[in-house]
Amino acid sequence: MSKLIKGIGASEGIAFTKVLLIEEVELDLTKKKSVAEDEIKLFNNAIEKAVKQITKLISSAIKNNLGEEKAAIFEAHLQIANDPSMTQEVITLIKTENCNAGYALDKVSKKYIAMFEAIDDAYMRERSADIKDVSRRMQMIIANKAEVDLSAISEKVIIVAEDLTPSQTAVLNKKYILGFATNIGGRTSHAAIMARSLGIPAVLGLKTITKDVRNGEILILNGQKGYVIINPTTEEINEHKTLLVEEEKTKELLKKFKNKKTLTKDNVHFELAGNIGNPKDVVAVNEAGGEAVGLFRSEFLYMESDQWPTEDTQYESYKESLVAMKGKRVIIRTLDIGGDKTLNYFKFPEEMNPFLGYRAIRLCLDRKEIFRTQLRALLRASMHGQLSIMFPLIATVKELKDALKFLDKVKAELDTEKIAYNKNIEVGMMMEVPAAAVIADKLAKYVDFFSIGTNDLIQYTMAADRMNETVAYLYEPLNPSILTLVNNIIQSGKKHNVWTGMCGEMAADHLAVPVLIGMGIHELSVSASSILRTRAQISQLTIKDTQELAAQVLECETAQEVEKLVLAFNKKVETC
Ligand code: PEP
Ligand code: MG
Repeated sequence: MSKLIKGIGASEGIAFTKVLLIEEVELDLTKKKSVAEDEIKLFNNAIEKAVKQITKLISSAIKNNLGEEKAAIFEAHLQIANDPSMTQEVITLIKTENCNAGYALDKVSKKYIAMFEAIDDAYMRERSADIKDVSRRMQMIIANKAEVDLSAISEKVIIVAEDLTPSQTAVLNKKYILGFATNIGGRTSHAAIMARSLGIPAVLGLKTITKDVRNGEILILNGQKGYVIINPTTEEINEHKTLLVEEEKTKELLKKFKNKKTLTKDNVHFELAGNIGNPKDVVAVNEAGGEAVGLFRSEFLYMESDQWPTEDTQYESYKESLVAMKGKRVIIRTLDIGGDKTLNYFKFPEEMNPFLGYRAIRLCLDRKEIFRTQLRALLRASMHGQLSIMFPLIATVKELKDALKFLDKVKAELDTEKIAYNKNIEVGMMMEVPAAAVIADKLAKYVDFFSIGTNDLIQYTMAADRMNETVAYLYEPLNPSILTLVNNIIQSGKKHNVWTGMCGEMAADHLAVPVLIGMGIHELSVSASSILRTRAQISQLTIKDTQELAAQVLECETAQEVEKLVLAFNKKVETC
């Protein structure tokens, strides 16, 4: 019998194929009485196999030109796997305590990890991640288990998992991954954002999907309506095949907007830009006729790497995106790490509320060597196109001034070294903290532009976690509090000649677009898959009508009232 389960539609599109269930492999590392001789054999075998696996990784890194950095990391892994003192300590523990190899390896590796983490040197501290990695590899061999390598999937599947981290999503191959469904997450979680930028249909927040479905079962996934159907009937399959054909037709119809400017019905131009996570995503933005890149989430470069990316590596990536955009503006946001975006080579402090904690500009202002490397790379790359720098998560005037002061210092360093950069480089800030939105008027004096990050602005204003499906009812883009803040940002910007864009997901919300246009937003930056649909919608609007609508919605008391007004407005526009 088929079973329909509702979740949150996170990336539109319909997919229909078999399931690949990704389960976190749990290892039992508790202490057990064992025969020492057998356990030592198991342990030696794990070393031998781990060494073979790592050696293979080194040769494929070289063969696939993944760069010396990647190969060097695996070389370090090889040294760890072969480390005589660690090996000897594990064997001695097995012998003296007659315990299992898994427990002994866990105990010894934890000691080494703690030792490295205590060293007062960032590079050495980060080596603890390598020890974790190698010891996990050996533990998997000891337990005779295997982990799924998402980048190696070579048949068409829908991935079902508890959650997908941003770095897991970053390696998904669109050719084979037709969709994904997860227990947790919502429309603005990073897995959702990545899905949209890759154009992979996704339904998140399904709560128990990993329990409801088995590996290999057939699944229909509707990313727009937000549901999945397990073991669909023939009628359900046929019905969705028809929907797929309709979807293709709509895509065909939208193609006529591809190489057009984004103009309202009364010929006013708005810049419609695309959001990207790495330079390769520029292809999709260009294909959809994006007029700029409104948000390059530079943290994905850091997450896809095994160590802090060097100045040169970053420079090459930024340059690649600028060259690919052929002179059109590319706004690169400085490192916005923390929250749900972690790095396997950097240990974040244990925090009760990581989204309110040590992240983004806070971390960069504290770890200036990391910030400096990125700013140098950005400034150098600014010679290759129209690069704008944007600071994330600014909450106060002081934070903004500190960031700008440091940027000036880095510019001065480059001047001394006679390294060229664009002296008129535009600098802006994300508007995603309510405190900043309230004092937009004061912040506007120091920047060239604002870009409203509604994904965070909504969660912080409504005190509703953007990843938590149980409080999703509070996460309302059309809530009067959000509309008031957005309007305040736009009007404050205008007063100081500062243009305002929006790069949060609200920018592609067909209920928000006419309101934003009416408020006078200058730019909308959306995922590549939403560009043509948004341009088509804008082509039906007139400034006068949207201004009237914006004035009306600002008087509303609830999101539901706003929604009613906009739905009626959109209906009238479509029938005109
Ligand atoms: C936002 O918060 O709206 C935003 C664009 O940034 P991110 O989604 O990466 O937090
Ligand atoms: Mg944000």
